[in-house]
Amino acid sequence: MYRGGIEVISGCMFSGKTEELLRRIRRSELARLPVQLFKHALDDRYTGGHCESHSSMKLPATGAMTVAELRSKLNPNAQVIGIDEAQFYDEEIVPFVMELADRGRQVIIAGLDSDFRGLPFGAMPQLLAIAENVCKMHAVCMVCGGNGTQTQRLGTSQELVIVGATDSYEARCRQCFRPGGV
Ligand code: ADP
Ligand code: MG
Ligand code: ZN
Repeated sequence: MYRGGIEVISGCMFSGKTEELLRRIRRSELARLPVQLFKHALDDRYTGGHCESHSSMKLPATGAMTVAELRSKLNPNAQVIGIDEAQFYDEEIVPFVMELADRGRQVIIAGLDSDFRGLPFGAMPQLLAIAENVCKMHAVCMVCGGNGTQTQRLGTSQELVIVGATDSYEARCRQCFRPGGV
């Protein structure tokens, strides 16, 4: 049976992307499908070989900093392949996941749709375009309690990625979002 395809779980920080990815990987595992979960090692929550959500759900994961590393560490028997923090990989991730889907693999990608400036993040626009299935997750705005769709940086650093700084961000709605930091 051909089960290949690409699913993207996207949204801002704290919207539940990792929780949803872990849920989907877990249910495949329960059905005894061979799974492999990748985690970008730039994330400060990548510790002890696990992929962990902000709510402390976690599963074992393989760390990979580049698409070349994803390729070299890929388990050829994996039927379901999860990739968290996909916005951190370069555009080579697009042909990589296409090949996997063409070979009948189910690829589940989680990643930020936009950065702290409100701009599309990495190859996420292309991944969203080629996916069979797309889920936009939402958080709760930390200012007004509305629909949190943006990642607000707290502070004025202009680095694209502040490593090890989960405290430096919060979810905001479109109205309360201040692109680039407060
Ligand atoms: P993501 O991968 O999208 O950053 P996670 O799946 O790691 O998100 O974490 C989602 C969890 O974050 C929620 O279940 C909740 O426990 C927590 N959380 C913290 N702040 C918020 C917020 N403002 N809105 C919603 N959930 C939040
Ligand atoms: Mg996450
Ligand atoms: Zn708001």
